[in-house]
Amino acid sequence: MSAGLVQAAYIVAAFFFFLSLKGLSKQETARSGNYFGIAGMAIALIATIFGPDSQGFIWIIIAMVIGGGIGIHYAKKVEMTEMPELVAILHSFVGMAAVLVGYNSYIDAPEVATHAEHVIHLVEVFLGVFIGAVTFTGSVVAFGKLRGIISSSPLNLPHKHKMNLAAIIVSIFLLLHFVNADGSMFAMILMTLIAFAFGYHLVASIGGADMPVVVSMLNSYSGWAAAAAGFMLANDLLIITGAFVGSSGAILSYIMCKAMNRSFISVIAGGFGQEVVISTDEEQGEHRETTAEEVAEMLKNSKSVVITPGYGMAVAQAQYPVHEITDKLRSQGVEVRFGIHPVAGRLPGHMNVLLAEAKVPYDIVLEMDEINDDLAETDTVLVIGANDTVNPAALDDPNSPIAGMPVLEVWNAKNVIVFKRSMNTGYAGVQNPLFFKENTQMLFGDAKESVEAIFKAL
Ligand code: NDP
Repeated sequence: MSAGLVQAAYIVAAFFFFLSLKGLSKQETARSGNYFGIAGMAIALIATIFGPDSQGFIWIIIAMVIGGGIGIHYAKKVEMTEMPELVAILHSFVGMAAVLVGYNSYIDAPEVATHAEHVIHLVEVFLGVFIGAVTFTGSVVAFGKLRGIISSSPLNLPHKHKMNLAAIIVSIFLLLHFVNADGSMFAMILMTLIAFAFGYHLVASIGGADMPVVVSMLNSYSGWAAAAAGFMLANDLLIITGAFVGSSGAILSYIMCKAMNRSFISVIAGGFGQEVVISTDEEQGEHRETTAEEVAEMLKNSKSVVITPGYGMAVAQAQYPVHEITDKLRSQGVEVRFGIHPVAGRLPGHMNVLLAEAKVPYDIVLEMDEINDDLAETDTVLVIGANDTVNPAALDDPNSPIAGMPVLEVWNAKNVIVFKRSMNTGYAGVQNPLFFKENTQMLFGDAKESVEAIFKAL
């Protein structure tokens, strides 16, 4: 394939990636967005593998078969609830790839015409390795936190902000030395080790409630790491694709921060939640329990019902029976709507995906801001496996790690039923005063079984 043809294919692929992102921004078009992405990637791979700059065709195919095989195996096996972990670990691969490309590009530097180009290449290598290394360890820690291997509470080393600042300053000095010395393996290795530690510390210092921002931030970093690799390899498409991922990840981080009323800079600079005050049941008072039959009766007597799902609905896979009771109640003239918190579940849009999967009509699925004002006029709210996203402490308790985060104000409704298995806390590790309110009743048990029992009773 000639260089001209490869460039033409790259432009087509870049356009497909653009269409992919556009499609992925709405549920209705997400499927076609995925197909555009697949098509763009297929074109990009074919053009790169058969392009004039590629050698060792057999090796590339062997690597792709092994990598693709592992990828297909895990993609088939992964549960919806494990998706964020998968995304986090995939980000770490992009980070490591940028580190390896950086070292390779340093050791086997491309021919350049001028000294300026040589200096630019050195800076590209250094920055690419730095971003890649931070992304790698940061993503590994995010993976560990999401999987529960690493505690979701923030690591609180003394002088943590000073340590972060020191890592950045030392890395800048190493960059200057690297460029002045016309390349230095010692500086590269030292910077890589610092960047690994920096990435680890940065994400480990962030508490559970801020993990959505961390995941989207690492998504953005992985894009910039890919763009940096594109510069090192002089590959235009990799630069464009990396910039797409980097900027869309940054926009997503901004949206997540806004949704959680967080300052992006504060989150990435070490996180919130250090002064975690975990309240106990005794301090909160008594909770009341109910049964599926009583809930069915209450629903029959309600005019309006709002369902606020959370991570527990995903764990229990309760979306299908939830759709069944929705249909049943609607057929009996009850108004049923869903209220979706922007960070409910473990990945952006998690609840929307589950409800779409169960074929719940889009028009009754509302965002938090669209439903919050209506909750005071709602007869019954069913909180299905949600916890942090319906926690009044976010508004009432300035010491809470989730203080300031907008939440679904379900306690304003006439009756609230909370579906969960125990009095355990949510992901942020804070007790929920909602469970002890006068108008709240707990329906203990697996959410799917509870919803099925209500359906039977209806
Ligand atoms: P939470 O994680 O706060 O709580 C989920 C609740 O579901 C738990 O209290 C648990 O209680 C219950 N549960 C678990 N399994 C079941 C089951 N089988 N049946 C019934 N209940 C079950 O959920 P939210 O969705 O309200 O909040 C999401 C949290 O995750 C926020 O803190 C958010 O910041 C964080 N996060 C969000 C991400 C995102 O992008 N959306 C990414 C990373 C983190 P019990 O054990 O008692 O059953």
